Amino acid sequence: MLPPSWTPPPTPAFAPTPDPLTPARDITHRHFGAGDQVVVLKGVSGGELWGDAMRVVASSWHTPTDEDGWRLRDATGGQQSYLTAHPRYLVHLKRRCPDCLIYLRAMEDYLLPKYASRNELIDCGWYTTTALGQLVHVNDARDGR
Ligand SMILES: [Zn+2]
Repeated sequence: MLPPSWTPPPTPAFAPTPDPLTPARDITHRHFGAGDQVVVLKGVSGGELWGDAMRVVASSWHTPTDEDGWRLRDATGGQQSYLTAHPRYLVHLKRRCPDCLIYLRAMEDYLLPKYASRNELIDCGWYTTTALGQLVHVNDARDGR
C-alpha cells in the first residue's frame, strides 16, 4: 500500500546528451553479484546524478552486446520489473568500491556543470528497453540491432 502522501514522480525533461564515459568503462562481469544494490544512471536532478535503483538477480546474456550481463529487478518497474543490463551500465549503490566511485565521480564532473542552472529532473536519453527486457545504452544500439 502506498502512503496517502504519495505523488507520482515528475516526468523528466528529455535532454539527449552524449555519454562518452559509460561505453569506455572497463568493468568485469563478476564485479557484480546476485543481491547487489545497483543504480543505472539516467541524468541529473537538482545538481545531483539520478538513476534507477535496482537489485541484481542473476547472470543473464545481454543480447544487444552479445556479452555476459546481469538480470536486474526494478521494484518500481511495473510491467518491466525485470531487465537485463550490461555490467558497464551498473554502479554499486551501497558498496563504496573504487571502480564504481571513479565512474560516478567522472560522470559528476562531466555532467553536473552542463546542467548547473537547471533544477528539474533531466533524462539524458542514454537508455532504452527492448520488448524482451534488454536495457540498451544508446552507444550499443547504433549497430542497428
Ligand atoms: Zn562496484
